[in-house]
Amino acid sequence: MTGAPLIEIRDADVVRDGRTILYVDDLTFREGEHVAVLGPNGAGKSTLVGLITRDVLPLTREVAPVLLRGQARWDLFAARRVFGVVSDTLQDHYRRDVTVADVVISGFFGSIGLYRRDEVTTSMAERAEALLDFLDIAHLAGRTMRTLSTGEARRALIGRALVHEPALLVLDEPTHGLDPAGTYRFLTTLRKIADAGCALVIITHHVSDIVPEVTRVVMLKDGRVFRDGEKHALLTDDSLAGLYGMPAEVEERGGWYRLW
Ligand code: ADP
Ligand code: MG
Repeated sequence: MTGAPLIEIRDADVVRDGRTILYVDDLTFREGEHVAVLGPNGAGKSTLVGLITRDVLPLTREVAPVLLRGQARWDLFAARRVFGVVSDTLQDHYRRDVTVADVVISGFFGSIGLYRRDEVTTSMAERAEALLDFLDIAHLAGRTMRTLSTGEARRALIGRALVHEPALLVLDEPTHGLDPAGTYRFLTTLRKIADAGCALVIITHHVSDIVPEVTRVVMLKDGRVFRDGEKHALLTDDSLAGLYGMPAEVEERGGWYRLW
């Protein structure tokens, strides 16, 4: 079940050092649709995230390269209702003495945990508390980010992204740095977020990060969309071998995938 377009990317050409590092002809993420963006290192996955957040600007065209809910122009607050992003880059910014509760609340201000205490309303505090519960990190509320494991810190950043109740959560390499148990718990949390009605875009090079809720796969290769379609049609030996440039055998078990 998928709905209205949330993010539409059209004819977006990102050039660095005279080379197109990402070209997207036509790519849409929709309300309630869970998508995995799969591709090897250097495929352009993080550049795609940058396009969405506007940290990366494509070549100028007559048509706007990125539409949010059909709009070419939007302010930051409108954007935060459409999508939240969690990435390693963001996590690097947070290796400091900010508490988990403050990290989540900082989402309201778009800051890295710096705001005046008196600006925090009761409803903000309540929302943050509910999110800490939802993400199973209520017991960590007073701990500083530096003292957390990678998985715990990433949960805090998800909380930060979810304060505005975005329609879509974009996760760039969400299981990077997590051990098997940490990965399992983290993916279980992503499933819970999907169940709560938030669309997921999981960006990864591991097919094992594709939670069963994902129905569509977008494959990126050499800065281009290599394939885009229904999960079962795309997660085949042939297309994965083509994507990664190596022999590939994919196995599905109970909605999860492994690559051999
Ligand atoms: P991925 O996230 O899929 O690993 P990236 O989007 O980070 O890939 O990068 C795609 C390609 O673009 C890589 O080859 C990378 O080296 C290159 N690239 C990214 N940013 C820049 C930049 N600012 N200048 C030059 N090349 C870049
Ligand atoms: Mg990347």
